[in-house]
Amino acid sequence: MGNTIKGQFPVSKFKNIETPFYYYDAELLRNTLTTIKEESGKYGYKVHYAIKANANHDVLALISSYGLGADCVSGNEVKAAIEAGFKPSDIVFAGVGKTDKEINFALDNDIFCFNVESVPELEVINDLATIKGKTAKVALRINPNIDAHTHQKITTGLNENKFGFSMNDIKFAADFIAKASNLELIGVHFHIGSQITDFSAYEDLCVRINELQDEFESQGITLKNINIGGGLGINYEHPNHFPMADFEGYFRLFSKNLKLREGQTLHCEPGRSVVAQCGSLITKVTYVKQGTNKKFVIVDAGMTDLIRPALYDAYHRIENITSDEQEETYDVVGPICESSDVFQKEVSLNETKRGDLLALRSAGAYGEIMASRYNLRDLPVGYLSDKI
Ligand SMILES: *Cc1c(COP(=O)(O)O)cnc(C)c1O
Repeated sequence: MGNTIKGQFPVSKFKNIETPFYYYDAELLRNTLTTIKEESGKYGYKVHYAIKANANHDVLALISSYGLGADCVSGNEVKAAIEAGFKPSDIVFAGVGKTDKEINFALDNDIFCFNVESVPELEVINDLATIKGKTAKVALRINPNIDAHTHQKITTGLNENKFGFSMNDIKFAADFIAKASNLELIGVHFHIGSQITDFSAYEDLCVRINELQDEFESQGITLKNINIGGGLGINYEHPNHFPMADFEGYFRLFSKNLKLREGQTLHCEPGRSVVAQCGSLITKVTYVKQGTNKKFVIVDAGMTDLIRPALYDAYHRIENITSDEQEETYDVVGPICESSDVFQKEVSLNETKRGDLLALRSAGAYGEIMASRYNLRDLPVGYLSDKI
């Protein structure tokens, strides 16, 4: 694999910034958000950005300025969303283990909807809402039993799974809500996995939702909102050729396959596809080490700064952004005392020496936000390109 086409980076500005750091291309993020608004707007769909992909304050503020809603999976995410300018009335809150504190915080802020994952959770939300004299709007997170053909650690839509209600339990949950004093059922919610590039999984989801809608209707229940979750994949191999996910095809697929009823709104919760491609982890080469049969490039970023390769065997394209020399083959590794701290083996890089800067591409999603201080390392800082 050649590295001839590289991303565009303001390398001279990077010289004064302590490495490793996250760099977010604001122009690409803006273009992505414009495309999302245009393509979803064609059909009147409502987009809630999944905060868990990247909660960098400047990134969040930029996203909220485009009028997107937020999808949160913790009380602190709800708080961060509100602080970054997302309207509480556009916030949805999912998660299998919402604590009383988190639920109370969301109730106090009158968020749009709780995406509920179990009957015990419904009971607690009803009790807490009753104490506050409020009605909590809830949607049932349903496990549609669809194989998203993605990595096993990020598939969520199969039947036996900690997330959501199985198809068999929906009726019981809907009856519970109907009888509960302070709950209002406003919709159904699905999230079948992440990094989904095989669109047939979404077609399967549409079929399942259509069937389910018929069933709800036969029981006299009309749902105002259908939420299809997130999961749209991006191209990790070729970020320069495919800087954006296929939003046009994604929204069109739902408009063609999903039978929305009169007055119903479709919601979605993209995370990765909003922020992944605009972000790179910039790291400096500490040493180039000649092994017995290979050369190691040892960089100052590690699995603590970008855990996806170690956790999911994920591929991130690596570019040497300060060298135009002939390409050579290296293993690119971090400094952490774990043998899984390898970013990539046998990667072609322009000849690399100590002090060069490498960019680990497509790192805007599940990068900075998953960083840890293992080995007592400093957390990497994230910079929006506008601000450096
Ligand atoms: C993680 C998550 C998302 C976002 O998933 P992406 O694959 O990043 O688009 C959306 N909704 C829920 C409920 C999630 O847990």
